[in-house]
Amino acid sequence: MKIDIEKLKKIVGANNVSDDIADLYVYASDASVHHALPTAVVRPKTIEEVQKIMRYANANKIPVVPRGAGSGTSGHTVPIDGGIVLDMKQMNRILDIRPEDMLIKVEPGVVDDDLNRALKPLGLFYPPAPASSRIATIGGEIAANASGVRSVKYGATRDYVYGMKVVLANGDLVNLGSNTRVHSSGYQLERLIVGSEGTLGVVVEATMGIRPLPKYRCLAVANFDKLQDAGNAISDIISSGCEPSMLELMDKIGIIAVNKAMDLGLKEVGAIILFEADGNVKEAVDFEIEKMKKICKKHNGKDIKKSYDLVERTKLFSGRKKLFASLSQYKE
Ligand SMILES: Cc1cc2nc3c(=O)[nH]c(=O)nc-3n(C[C@H](O)[C@H](O)[C@H](O)COP(=O)(O)OP(=O)(O)OC[C@H]3O[C@@H](n4cnc5c(N)ncnc54)[C@H](O)[C@@H]3O)c2cc1C
Repeated sequence: MKIDIEKLKKIVGANNVSDDIADLYVYASDASVHHALPTAVVRPKTIEEVQKIMRYANANKIPVVPRGAGSGTSGHTVPIDGGIVLDMKQMNRILDIRPEDMLIKVEPGVVDDDLNRALKPLGLFYPPAPASSRIATIGGEIAANASGVRSVKYGATRDYVYGMKVVLANGDLVNLGSNTRVHSSGYQLERLIVGSEGTLGVVVEATMGIRPLPKYRCLAVANFDKLQDAGNAISDIISSGCEPSMLELMDKIGIIAVNKAMDLGLKEVGAIILFEADGNVKEAVDFEIEKMKKICKKHNGKDIKKSYDLVERTKLFSGRKKLFASLSQYKE
């Protein structure tokens, strides 16, 4: 495919365009098994640059694939027809934090953990964080409707999107949704972009909701000899009206994989359930955890441990956090 590299360099600067084979190889895959080389990698820094790139690509029928961290597991950033991979990571400014409205405005390349690091001192957090939050960008999370371990209580990315600026395939810039929490009339086109995997346009700015950090978080772990018992415990927890802020299952293969990769020494039982409750009243959190413990016991859950302590909770959760990476190294 013919691409005018010099033209692209004029738009974004020489350092932000590459057709070097080593770079193309790096951008040829994501966290999936798929692989295809782009023709060029372009790294815009501004909305205007994105518009110019899209206008040029549209006029010359060059495919464009937007990309955040490339942590997607479905191959959606893999440029199967070649063309331009648009690396959005340089557009990584947190533009506004408005605690009074519980809203933030960000560029798409902001990394999820960086956002939460900025929010934490203000007693706030952005809940949908996927397990890849250390690298995943907000643009990639919007386009994939990412969810995370706390989505069972707090919802997925779609539930946090209020407004968006999107550059369309022809280079036009559209404002979707609103910068306020309430907007009652009109199509909710900002929601259409969520989960669109870069097929409808390039997200160049987003206004998202945030939540106050709960005062207390208690994480518990239960072992089960049988996977089916663990599954039944989860169904029971959900249907009993409990409100877990996390409810995750690891099966035996997952447990063996994290033990091998991280030497965690977890008991290699049929399944582990991690369950968490959070809130501002400790007695209420205790109550939720005890209710879930009881249900686990009813389904033969054992070795139940719980902790409010951040260090201890991080240790208990470390296996689940690294599960995907551990499974990718797993061989029977
Ligand atoms: C270890 C690991 C754990 C994971 N855990 C989870 C999990 O718990 N939950 C979950 O949902 N996913 C998870 N994922 C998948 C992945 O991390 C998420 O989908 C994440 O949202 C992708 O973000 P990214 O910045 O890497 O986007 P990319 O992978 O770069 O892109 C994802 C999609 O978004 C599009 N895109 C990127 N930026 C833009 C933009 N600015 N405008 C328009 N489209 C854009 C891309 O074209 C692509 O279709 C995990 C992946 C890994 C490797």
